[in-house]
Amino acid sequence: MAKAEPQRSCLGCREVKPKDELLRFVLDPEKNVVPDLAKRLPGRGAYTCYRRSCLEAAVVKRQFSRSFKGEARTPSAVDLLSMVTGLQEERVAATIALANKAGRIVSGSDKVMDALRKGSIALLILAEDISPESAAKFLAIADKTGIESFRFSEKERLGSPLGKDLRSVVAVCPGPFAESLRRELKRYGNFFEGGAE
Ligand SMILES: [Zn+2]
Repeated sequence: MAKAEPQRSCLGCREVKPKDELLRFVLDPEKNVVPDLAKRLPGRGAYTCYRRSCLEAAVVKRQFSRSFKGEARTPSAVDLLSMVTGLQEERVAATIALANKAGRIVSGSDKVMDALRKGSIALLILAEDISPESAAKFLAIADKTGIESFRFSEKERLGSPLGKDLRSVVAVCPGPFAESLRRELKRYGNFFEGGAE
């Protein structure tokens, strides 16, 4: 446990970080650069931070082909970004589904509001397309009770892992699922924050 974690440098900003904090890319059998979010695909890996600007810089500076010794076919930055956000979105949705099966999710506006007021939840997830009035209502209480909140995808996407049509807000109870969702949602958010130009 105390051993130093393996470190890698980001192809975009060159910063050296523990592998666990970086986004991994590998070559698929056709030599295309593909993201490997679960870090399970075989072969040599290349890494960037979980940050839109680092991924874009890596593509623009042709760092992937350098890292893969010229064998790589690098998609455009736009395509790579959409692959990463799509996969990251799936990871978040899958974790929400597991947390829900384990009984660690509260959904439905009234129930979430109740739980939020009691301070019995670890984090709050709001769909991007929630109405601004509702968002403001939830965020005001979250702010008061010190509960962290995240934005995630759309109502339909937030509802589907729960087997519901639409969910504009979901709360996660404290525990390991909340911790892994906090990490995955931060990574998801990093690809939008400040990156829209
Ligand atoms: Zn970086």
